[in-house]
Amino acid sequence: MRFEYVVVGAGFAGCTIAERIANVLNKKVLIIEKRNHIGGNAYDYYNEDGILVHKYGPHIFHTNNKIVWDYLSNFTKWRLYQHRVLAYVDGKYVPFPINLDTINILYNKNFSSEDFKLFLETVRKKSEKITNSKDVVTSQIGEELYEKFFQWYTKKQWDIFPDELSPEVTARIPVRFNRDDRYFTDRYQGVPEYGYTRLFENLIDSKNIHILLNTDYKEVINEIKFEKLIYTGPIDYFFDYKYGKLPYRSIRFEFETLSCEYYQPVATVNYPNDYDFTRITEFKHITGQIHPKTTIVKEYPTSEGEPYYPIPQNENYEIYRLYEKEARMLTNIYFVGRLASYKYYNMDKVVEEALKLFEKIKFTS
Ligand code: FAD
Ligand code: UDP
Repeated sequence: MRFEYVVVGAGFAGCTIAERIANVLNKKVLIIEKRNHIGGNAYDYYNEDGILVHKYGPHIFHTNNKIVWDYLSNFTKWRLYQHRVLAYVDGKYVPFPINLDTINILYNKNFSSEDFKLFLETVRKKSEKITNSKDVVTSQIGEELYEKFFQWYTKKQWDIFPDELSPEVTARIPVRFNRDDRYFTDRYQGVPEYGYTRLFENLIDSKNIHILLNTDYKEVINEIKFEKLIYTGPIDYFFDYKYGKLPYRSIRFEFETLSCEYYQPVATVNYPNDYDFTRITEFKHITGQIHPKTTIVKEYPTSEGEPYYPIPQNENYEIYRLYEKEARMLTNIYFVGRLASYKYYNMDKVVEEALKLFEKIKFTS
């Protein structure tokens, strides 16, 4: 077999770069994917009751990057969906991220935005330096709200308390002085109208792209003739763990289909202080599907299993940098994506990085 490019992994990173190489450079690409489907962690499918579900947990596309949005819009129409989340705290369901209504409901108050700001001034910790994910939160909302909303959710999700995690983890979550209860405020938000898997099918629908599923690239790579390799799997695996294993956090997803039209009022309810799962998501809120039944998923974080989340801690980044240095010295081998970069990237950032990599390699081919 002869290809100009081999791409390892059929997620957003792999399929984006494969599409560009095949359609812009008109080169032959082989994608090797170890799972039995394309789409990486964004894969979705219709379950046995005919409800569209996300196999690896809820995925909502959101970005401020017009280039990324316009690029993907060539391959899908969008359902313009805005994600909403409630947190179950002190026996009440309150909007999350914390906003004016959250505080008023939780503390039975009637604060204005100004009152809320003054209140936070009295409770927030005036830290000199923000060095971890706890500082990020307590410097904005103080210890009590931190404990109610962040401490135990984070412990469940990462098996680490926020003070041992890099700041970028909880920095994903804003505090709002208004009543905006959307989870994201990016300019472009939605889900592919016919699902993510259809979007991926469209991305790689080219006579120049071949795909090999159910195959770990290491099993076949020596039998394939190629000029360049793009790798989107875990970077430590590529180098046979020579600097040690990078830790990843995994999740066990427990799906349930219920004989009622809706189970909860919004797509996701977070349970920071109750149960072993972190959150329950009900897909029909996200997809807009009309169906007499409904499917929910509970997320149980685990240390074993598929690598979903790089763990943002300095010691892990140090190991990653050893691999990164090694990767930079290779010619004609490129690393892109969440696992290959060991970064807590959202989908839009992965597409952005893949498009940037394409700009870099197109001049060398
Ligand atoms: P992946 O999607 O992981 O794809 C990598 C592919 O490489 C996989 O299919 C894997 O099987 C394959 N592979 C690995 N090793 C090998 C090998 N040795 N040989 C062959 N193939 C291999 N992002 C958002 O923007 N919005 C969200 O709402 C959101 N929600 C999320 C919820 C959860 C529970 C999780 C885990 C992630 C979420 N994300 C979300 C992040 C999103 O999933 C990632 O940013 C995105 O999927 C990363 O794409 P990728 O191509 O880099 O990696
Ligand atoms: N987080 C929290 N409480 C919540 C929601 C999030 O403490 O109710 C923290 C937690 O550490 C989590 C991080 O904020 O890992 C980022 O949350 P996000 O919803 O962005 O996580 P993802 O959707 O990527 O799992």
